[in-house]
This record gives sequence, structure tokens and C-alpha cells, in this order.
Amino acid sequence: MNEKGIPEEELFAELGFFSDADTNFKKVFSSMCTIPHPVAVAAQQKFVLSNIGDPGLFRGTCEMETEVIRMTASILNHPNPKSAFGHMTSGGTESNIEAVLHMKNRFSDSNSGSDFNLNSNLNSNLNSDFNSDSNMNSVSNSRLNLIVPKTAHFSFEKIANLLGIELKKADIDSYFRVIPESVESLIDENTIGLIGIAGSTEFGECDPIEKLSEIAIKHELPLHVDAAFGGFVYPFLDSDSVLDSVSGSVSDFDSDFNSVSDSEIKFAFNLPGVTSVSVDPHKMGLSVIPSGILIFKNESVLGSSLDKIKVKTPYLTSKYQSTLTGTRPGSSVAATYAVMKHLGVEGYRENVSYCMDLVNHFEKELNRIGLTPCISPRINIVTVSVCSANSTGSNSNETAQTANHEKTEKIRAQLLEKYGWNVSATKTIPALRFVLMPHITKEDISNMISDLEKLLNAEK
Ligand SMILES: *Cc1c(COP(=O)(O)O)cnc(C)c1O
Repeated sequence: MNEKGIPEEELFAELGFFSDADTNFKKVFSSMCTIPHPVAVAAQQKFVLSNIGDPGLFRGTCEMETEVIRMTASILNHPNPKSAFGHMTSGGTESNIEAVLHMKNRFSDSNSGSDFNLNSNLNSNLNSDFNSDSNMNSVSNSRLNLIVPKTAHFSFEKIANLLGIELKKADIDSYFRVIPESVESLIDENTIGLIGIAGSTEFGECDPIEKLSEIAIKHELPLHVDAAFGGFVYPFLDSDSVLDSVSGSVSDFDSDFNSVSDSEIKFAFNLPGVTSVSVDPHKMGLSVIPSGILIFKNESVLGSSLDKIKVKTPYLTSKYQSTLTGTRPGSSVAATYAVMKHLGVEGYRENVSYCMDLVNHFEKELNRIGLTPCISPRINIVTVSVCSANSTGSNSNETAQTANHEKTEKIRAQLLEKYGWNVSATKTIPALRFVLMPHITKEDISNMISDLEKLLNAEK
């Protein structure tokens, strides 16, 4: 650091230089975040002082947080939103960490004989027969595991490392949704819980959460649904606009797709086995960064696990803190409260319908250059293979897959270098991935696809 500070004017000239090097989202198809709603930004500024880690000093912000949790529980079909238990986090990663930490604590508690209660009408004495002839050591000696779909977000890799647990990855079907039988077959005496995804990062797909819920109940395991992206999409899908968006282009998938009316996709608290859900307002919720939400069905599903991270905070105005982080931005709470109140269900429906209209337009433009999406997009994430059709099948050999990944990567890099379009690629299959966020226009899509066409023609 310099001994002497620099004048404000000079400083802001410098800041301008840095902010010019950042994106303004104009040519971004790779991000799950977007330009926040103006009311969110205004509310954020109004609450810059607020620290929700010290609720006694910021009672107003605290009240808003309670209301955000209640509103979110209600869009997640909670039968009694007031009994939902949760708080705001920095995003999906932190929410997932905390959800899995509680799974781990509950598992250890149940195996050490202390009582916990996943579902009031279940006897949750998890793995009692496994443990009846031994003590806690049998569990702590073998690694605990968590069952996640193969398509799970990379935050679960961090979680496995952080919490010292093993990830067991369940197989996915040709629509990139987890196969319930595969999940069930992976359950063993060291399984601490199950993960389902509503809006997978790569494909936007929703796992069959209803089936996972049944499996969770049968095996008396907690089920956490990662709806970081999908939480502000699936509840607001209008089935008409969805069906319209898939008409014509990917006919072999239509029949399957039509069998599920998307507005009726169940993925949250209307399923009895779901114990927690994470949702990110800083993605399709149009709030500011950082804004995440973690909600548990109720406080009792946590059992004594809550006590483990509840720390006494004598020097603060509240008696204890039960969040992972200490100081937390009340400005994010205010921003999220503001945008949810301002838009209402109607506003979020419009937001999703705008994005699905983009999906529609995207598919038409793709067809124009002779391409189709890899799977019929259920929400505003579209994946496209730029390799020849006969070499991208799941049973093609490894060398061909590697070549296809390389070709995809080359096209992705050229889209950025030559034309400035930020696009990502998928790992599960060789494909380009486009997230059609509210900052994108139909014109952007047409321009980008024309540039893609030029690149593909040059490859021929
Ligand atoms: C974005 C995302 C996350 C991670 O959220 P962050 O806010 O980046 O921490 C986790 N899961 C899914 C499904 C996501 O899409």
C-alpha cells in the first residue's frame, strides 16, 4: 500500500479502468447471473450498513429476512410457509455446504443414539440394525457418503473435501436426469443423505424428485434439493409457453416431454421426503450478488445438529448464531425482499416467460443453420452439439468423445476471440451451453448464431 492515499478523482478514473475490463453482460451467454432489477440495487444501497449477523442491531433487516424465507417457502409449495426454517446465504455453494453439514451431523447423532427427527411420523433411528452390535467407531472408521446425481454442481466436490465425505455419483438417463434406481442402489449403511437437482447447471434439467422423495422416505434419509438456478424458474413456468418452445424441433423427445406438464413439476416441499431446498435470488431471482437462500422444511428436521453450529455470541445482541458465516450482508436481504415484493408471482412469471420466448427464438435460429438442441430445453438453458450427429452418441468411443470436446472447445474459444460472445461448454457431453438470461435479446441471439454459422462453415 502507498504511504499517501490518492485523490478521489484519480481513484475513480482508475476504478473506471477496472470496470471497463469487466463485462456489462451484453454478450454473455455463459453466466447464470444477470443484471439485477433496479429496485434490488436501490434497496441494496439503502441498507449498506446492515449486518444480519447481528440481528439485535438490525431488527428491520431481520424482519425482512423472515419474510423472504416465508415468501420463498410459499413459492416452493411449502404446506405451511411459516413453519419453514431458513436464512439467506452467499449463494448455492454455501447453502449446499450447510445442508450437507447438517446431514452429516444428524447421521452421527442418530448413530450415537441421540434422537433426531426427520419426519414426525417416522421412526428415524437411522441404520439402527447396522449399529446395534457395535458403537460409533464402526461408522467413523468407514467414510460417510452422500449420493449425488452425476450432473451435480461442482460445489459438491468442495463439500466432499471440506466435510471428509465420499460422493457417490448416480447415473443419469438420456435426458440427463438422475435414474432413481441408480440412486437407490448406491445407498448403504454410511449414506448420510440424497441430493436431487431442480435446474441442473449444465442442462437445466429437473431430476425425478418425486421418486427421490419416495426413496428418501423408504430409507429414512434426508433429501436436499439443489434448486439454486431452477428455484426461480420452475415455479413460474407457464406450461403453454414451454410446450410451444419445443414444438417442431426435437420431435423424438416431445412425447416424453409432453407427458409431464411443467407447471406441475413437483420438486420442493409439496413432496414429503424433501427436507431442504436451496434457491439463489442472485440468479433468476433478479437480486444482487451475493444472495442465496437455504430453507429446511422445519427446525425439527435438523434435530440436535442445529445445536452443533449454534454458537453462543455473548458480545452480540442476539444470543446465538446458527449460520455458517458470521457477518452477513443485510443489503442482500433488502435487495431480495425488494425485488420479490415488487415483482410478485406475476412479475417472475413474466421474467420466465421472456426467457422461454428467447429459448423459442434460439431454437428457430438454430434450425436455420441446421442445428438442434441436444435435448429439448425445459428451462432457459440450451445445449447444442457442433459435432456431426453420428459421433456424439453416448456409446461412441472415448477418442471420438475427446475429439468432439476439443472441437467444441475450439468453436467456443473462437466465438469469444473473433466475435466477443461468452459461451460455455458442457463436460458431460461435448456441447456448447447457452444460458438465456433476461439481459439477452432476440437480436443478440440472431447475431450470435450468425457468427456461429460462419465459424462452422469455416470448419467444413
Ligand atoms: C449456481 C449453482 C450452484 C452454486 O451457486 P453459487 O451461488 O455460485 O455458490 C449450485 N448448484 C446449482 C445447481 C447451481 O446452478
